Amino acid sequence: MAKYSSKINKIRTFALSLVFIGFIVMYGGIFFKSHPIVMTIFMLLGLLFIVASTVVYFWIGMLSTKTVQVICPNCNKPTKILGRVDICMHCDESLTLDKSLEGKEFDQNYNRKQTHQKQ
Ligand SMILES: [Zn+2]
Repeated sequence: MAKYSSKINKIRTFALSLVFIGFIVMYGGIFFKSHPIVMTIFMLLGLLFIVASTVVYFWIGMLSTKTVQVICPNCNKPTKILGRVDICMHCDESLTLDKSLEGKEFDQNYNRKQTHQKQ
């Protein structure tokens, strides 16, 4: 998973993994059947993760209203930009809304953890 994905996609992946963690934690509670209190804690924790993911999904919805839809100059498909710089959802082309950043190489400061390589 070295491929860079747009911010919205990343958050969506995060929300999905929260759901999975929630189910795993709840499943773990089954092993403590003989300890109802421990089981309840596990169930509540699992529920908490699932609630958190719902919040994240809601947040994605909020963010989606703030994104700007543009036509990618590289692949000519409509894509969404979140923030000053983002990546095209279809072809990983770096896109910017900031005129001062236009034409510059993709700013690594925004994505220090990721290595963005042009294929
Ligand atoms: Zn594109």
